Amino acid sequence: MRYISTRGQAPALNFEDVLLAGLASDGGLYVPENLPRFTQEEIASWAGLPYHELAFRVMRPFVEGSIADADFKKILEETYGEFAHAAVAPLRQLNSNEWVLELFHGPTLAFKDFALQLLGRLLDHVLAKRNERVVIIGATSGDTGSAAIEGCRRCDNVDIFILHPHQRVSEVQRRQMTTIFGDNIHNIAIEGNFDDCQEMVKASFADQSFLKGTRLVAVNSINWARIMAQIVYYFHAALQLGGPARSVAFSVPTGNFGDIFAGYLARNMGLPVSQLIVATNRNDILHRFMSGNQYVKETLHATLSPSMDIMVSSNFERLLFDLHGRNGGAIAELMANFKQGGGFSVEQDRWTEARKLFDSLAVSDEQTCETIAEVFAATGEVLDPHTAIGVKAARECRRSLDTPMVVLGTAHPVKFPEAVEKAGVGKALELPAHLSDLFSREERCTVLANDLKAVQGFVSQHGNRGKPL
Ligand SMILES: *Cc1c(COP(=O)(O)O)cnc(C)c1O
Repeated sequence: MRYISTRGQAPALNFEDVLLAGLASDGGLYVPENLPRFTQEEIASWAGLPYHELAFRVMRPFVEGSIADADFKKILEETYGEFAHAAVAPLRQLNSNEWVLELFHGPTLAFKDFALQLLGRLLDHVLAKRNERVVIIGATSGDTGSAAIEGCRRCDNVDIFILHPHQRVSEVQRRQMTTIFGDNIHNIAIEGNFDDCQEMVKASFADQSFLKGTRLVAVNSINWARIMAQIVYYFHAALQLGGPARSVAFSVPTGNFGDIFAGYLARNMGLPVSQLIVATNRNDILHRFMSGNQYVKETLHATLSPSMDIMVSSNFERLLFDLHGRNGGAIAELMANFKQGGGFSVEQDRWTEARKLFDSLAVSDEQTCETIAEVFAATGEVLDPHTAIGVKAARECRRSLDTPMVVLGTAHPVKFPEAVEKAGVGKALELPAHLSDLFSREERCTVLANDLKAVQGFVSQHGNRGKPL
């Protein structure tokens, strides 16, 4: 499989190189040159397969030529064997023909584990083969950091540095990062905010001389392998609900558009998906596009669903690329205008095309809490605020009551106690067994000033399993 850039100017890469690449050299994002397509008979024959076996069938075409079948099978079995629920991604029914796909049974209790547990193992496999080591530097306001650290903890060839804003992440989220030990794991608390952390990561990618030749790898949601891993659970859910004979609708709590883009790809690969709902919080750039064909930046608001607090959605470019007939030049132009501060609209027929599949809703904090309370009263289930936004959007935007509606349950409610307590159902919260001692575990973290040189100095002193690069 070959991968091409959404801006048309970067060289095509194979899977192995796309795994190690972040942004393409022309500033675009990598997408498969040709998407694999499965027949209905083929998809139907996968009904009942264990998650890791289904994952092998869905993802095999993407890694073909880079990872041998036997190795890939083993990696997938190990990856999804770590999940705390035997079904890996179980469906829980909330109402007639309405389900939550529980994607929070991985080690850090959010859907990001599906991709990052796999990414760590794939990286290590490829690096061992090439006899190379890499450094990962990432910024997090919560979920991504812990999932990335968990995903890399057993990697022999990866050193990971995760920057979080000092005293500005929740205690659960901080502890999920700082209680994982390894000589290749480094938590850095920056005396600054999340943007400061992100700026330092960007600057480190732009000038990598402090790494003395070691390659820097990105684990944010633009990494193709993350999208790829997320395609699988759309197939998994649909197969449980009568697919592919029957089509299914999905409502997806959305920030950077990675998770829902995977659903779009599943549909293009042959899975009958009748509707995809973009569920956002008050940071609603995607809702403004889907409802009014306006993609315009606005100020960032802090909400009760912090993992969806974004101003722009990086993966949206991948959808725009398809909507523009895969014309990289057109995307480069659109993005250049956008960067200069202008928003954009797309031509009417392109927007109409998107609207055949996508609907959207922006949900306020107040509505989020109302939904948590409502669902608890009706079912006894406690939803996390992100998932609650998905449920609210599903109920408002649903096109057909006959089509099963699946809401992606993106996080476990214990990760976001503030919203759950505001909704008045906080007493029902309990840490899952594998994290029950989280609050008594020892923590390891280095606090550094909001200073790029200090951070880069730290990385070069510790980037080789705790030793200097
Ligand atoms: C990351 C995240 C999201 C948003 O996913 P995107 O792929 O960025 O759209 C939603 N909910 C939770 C809990 C998350 O961690």
